[in-house]
Amino acid sequence: MSDSNESNWHPQTLAVHAGAEADVETGAVTPPIHPSTTFLRDDAGEPVGAYVYTREGNPTRDRLEAALTDIQPGAGAAAAFASGSAAASAILRSAEPGKRIVVPDDMYHGIRHLILGQAERWGVTLEFVDLSNLENLEAVLGSGNVAMVWVETPSNPRLKITDVAGAAQLAHAAGARLAVDATWTPPGVSDPFALGADLVMHSSTKYLAGHSDVLGGVVLARDENDPTFSFVRQLQHLEGAVPSPFDAWLTLRGLRTLSLRVREASSNAAQVARFLERHAAVLSVDYPGLESHPGHQVAARQMSAFGAMLAVRVKGGAEAANRVASATRLFRRATSLGGVESLIEHRAPVEGPNTKTPDDLLRVSVGIEHVDDLIHDFRQALGS
Ligand code: PLP
Repeated sequence: MSDSNESNWHPQTLAVHAGAEADVETGAVTPPIHPSTTFLRDDAGEPVGAYVYTREGNPTRDRLEAALTDIQPGAGAAAAFASGSAAASAILRSAEPGKRIVVPDDMYHGIRHLILGQAERWGVTLEFVDLSNLENLEAVLGSGNVAMVWVETPSNPRLKITDVAGAAQLAHAAGARLAVDATWTPPGVSDPFALGADLVMHSSTKYLAGHSDVLGGVVLARDENDPTFSFVRQLQHLEGAVPSPFDAWLTLRGLRTLSLRVREASSNAAQVARFLERHAAVLSVDYPGLESHPGHQVAARQMSAFGAMLAVRVKGGAEAANRVASATRLFRRATSLGGVESLIEHRAPVEGPNTKTPDDLLRVSVGIEHVDDLIHDFRQALGS
């Protein structure tokens, strides 16, 4: 890909320069957007350049994929998708019919609904397991035939922590692949390949793009020939669930400030979590940076920052949670996460009637506003 990998630059530097090689024709420092869906052939019918048709390859998407490969430590290949869910689906569909897939008992509800709806058609069996205790994983792997272990850590929305290195060891010993949904832990927060992951997936809608204005996803592998990645790449080319050139460009632009945003948001989140943990109206705060979190030790080992997501349970049940979500001013009441702005969501009603999420739980995405203003906002919303 670009020079940047060769020179061991810091992630912050890579994020600014990855996929940003000057345009050869014009010298433009900012990458061009190539909206063309098709590319010329010569008189012999051969493509005149590297591209034929945008579903299979597009210069702007290629720049994004090169940049994502550069900024995710250990990655050697990236496939960009039109959403995080499309990226996840491409990985999960690689399991052969008749196999089992292990997924966390607490996971992003959209992907849970996707697999619950499709697993039977795909011919795979789902095993929902509490992956915060690896004995549970060992037990389910013990009965054999597992194609893939899917890890989401911290999990959405309860922020359970999985020991990724331990899970990878167990999965590999059982002949299974380990995929990590790293949406909540972008580069700079965790390094799943160093911990043994075979595949890393992000919803780039969140931290990677960072401004709540573009939907996208990415699958990363150590190299293009990884067998699961080859399957993913084939689906990407044949189905075309890809980001438009403009979406790819917006995501590239978002990447430039990833390090700064993630550092600031994580620092803010730690301070907001500590404030909320001591507040009389709060029942509990799940944030892996708090010593009170059961996964704190593992998180401290495998994360270089604790991220910017919190789960806050308030006293007074669903009604109180609803009231607080309506009373915040800076924390805007909306789904999603990972943007520059802080968001709050009364989560259980959003997940639907069969959710296990407690009805007093607020899912909070901390943004990059000044931390004093964020704490002030919670203080006024909680009523003291
Ligand atoms: N994975 C996690 C952990 C998420 O939080 C989300 C969305 O919130 C997704 C995947 C799905 O991503 P997208 O909305 O881009 O399809």
